Amino acid sequence: LILGHQNSLVKEKVIAAMDNGWSYGACEKYSLELAEFIVSKLKFVDQIRFVNSGTEAVMSAIRLARGYTGKSKIIKFDGCYHGHMDSMLIKAGSGLAGTSTSSSAGVTDKTGEDTLICELGDLQKVADIIKAHPNQIAALFIEPLPANNGILIQGQEYLEGLRKLCDENDILLVFDEVISGFRVSFGGMVEKTGVIPDIVTYGKIIGGGFPVGALAAKKEIMECLAPLGDVYQAGTLSANPVAMIAGLTNLQQLNDNFYQDLHTKSQNYYSLLNDWLQQNGFNDYRLITYESLFWLVPSDKEIIKPSLIPENLMIRFDQLFKIFLEKGIYLSPNAYEIGFVSSAHDEKVLEDLKSRLWN
Ligand code: PLP
Repeated sequence: LILGHQNSLVKEKVIAAMDNGWSYGACEKYSLELAEFIVSKLKFVDQIRFVNSGTEAVMSAIRLARGYTGKSKIIKFDGCYHGHMDSMLIKAGSGLAGTSTSSSAGVTDKTGEDTLICELGDLQKVADIIKAHPNQIAALFIEPLPANNGILIQGQEYLEGLRKLCDENDILLVFDEVISGFRVSFGGMVEKTGVIPDIVTYGKIIGGGFPVGALAAKKEIMECLAPLGDVYQAGTLSANPVAMIAGLTNLQQLNDNFYQDLHTKSQNYYSLLNDWLQQNGFNDYRLITYESLFWLVPSDKEIIKPSLIPENLMIRFDQLFKIFLEKGIYLSPNAYEIGFVSSAHDEKVLEDLKSRLWN
């Protein structure tokens, strides 16, 4: 919720839209407005398809990539999360690089055979996996800013290298921007890095807090989706007017000044939190941040992959979490989950945070 809870404009528009009905199972004007608004601003996509969640967006992107390329395998990185469809609940196997096994009960080993797991941050490892599976890989999925295992910031050269490897091997590059899209900038990590994926997936902010996900790409790829193409995709509640008007009203408020202001607000929060950590027995902790995303972690090393995250993270974080909770500050209860600053985190909230922290 980049605008915080109960943004008054979003609330007003949603209530007004509900006066006309809330589910038609057919195209209606808000979804067209939202699609046109997004596509007019994000020059790297021509078309967008709305679904109901980030999981659905990635699930459809996998099918689209397979349908478009005629290949079956996908690459996923250890440390990235893409939702709860079976083919993404896969972790690295213990044997050769690229082997995989399921990471959830109920997901068959057979499903895992088409998901190749790779380590973040090492281009050679990706190249090796591609070489070991010639002409079999449809797409490479990555969170360009991995933010589901803390924040694992990837280098510019690495993302550019992935783009090159995909181009050389006819593999679609898919950026999962369910978290980073419209958050780190309006155009997400694509805008930040200039690296253009073939397909991009969105969620969260794009629905203004209502259940929405989306996938977008150039026309040539999107036209493979039904009804024009033969990759089936549909959803009764997809693009329902309430979620669409919420998303549109949310995104219309995100201009350059908004991001500049959010950046400044975030820096103020980070310096306050850092000061408190340094002065209160957590001086091994620091904040890893990227725009309005932050992660509290006891390490001063560069952390680009899960194996570099300090062990036993939860034990120490538990103490921190409890101290904060007693002060009326509710951090995410999981040390691997990150925090987000929203526009609702204004001066007043900052002052409140300050007085709670030091009392
Ligand atoms: N992709 C990423 C990067 C996510 O962070 C998430 C959820 O946090 C998803 C996909 C799945 O989205 P949802 O929870 O809306 O299904």
